[in-house]
Amino acid sequence: MTGFSRRRAILGATALFASPLFTREVFAQPAAGPFTLAPLPYAADANEPHIDAQTMTIHHDRHHAAYVTNLNAAVKDHSQVAAMKLQDILAKLPEMPEAVRTAIRNNGGGHANHTMFWLVMGGKGGEPTGELAAAITRDLGGMDKLKADFNRAGLTQFGSGWAFVTVDKDGKLAILNRPNQDTPLMDGKRALFGNDVWEHAYYLKYQNRRADYLAAWWNVVNWAEVAKRYAAAKAGTLDI
Ligand code: MN
Repeated sequence: MTGFSRRRAILGATALFASPLFTREVFAQPAAGPFTLAPLPYAADANEPHIDAQTMTIHHDRHHAAYVTNLNAAVKDHSQVAAMKLQDILAKLPEMPEAVRTAIRNNGGGHANHTMFWLVMGGKGGEPTGELAAAITRDLGGMDKLKADFNRAGLTQFGSGWAFVTVDKDGKLAILNRPNQDTPLMDGKRALFGNDVWEHAYYLKYQNRRADYLAAWWNVVNWAEVAKRYAAAKAGTLDI
């Protein structure tokens, strides 16, 4: 093989390795149980410089992966629970077997929250349009007020947790925060989008400056994806 063709072969292999299709097929093998970790829907550096690739990789490949592994372990001996959809498990948390209820809360919540989180990022920020923009104006006082109130919800969540914008089936929006891996799904609601304010989401780049992370995060929001979630919520088809 000439140097040129070898280089081409290496480049070709790199491109193949980086393609989402290849990643999905090779690495998205089912875990031991019924819940699986989907690959990131974009490259780990897609949210640079606002969220660094190393944080994205550790966050997805270790933190999210652990929630999936631990959720599967929790439901392993409870076949009726294991057969349920995650959103139904979380909506019926008080009915879950007591011995594994806390494990389901933490790890099922973690799996749901992170599944949503990856999907609403990978964009370039900016502002939504159309029906979603109108709902933000109507229910949340417009984009500037949404950002201020949402960032405050994230900043004032003591310790670890999340800030969310929830959406109901009528398309009405609200801002709330939740501790740990609790999710609006536990109240039978849907998260339109949310931001993870656990230190693992930002500490490598921002250290203790959670406010800076919250401000920068808006630059990676994928409003097209959020708009899809908004339409799905109104149609009753938004699962997580
Ligand atoms: Mn997290």
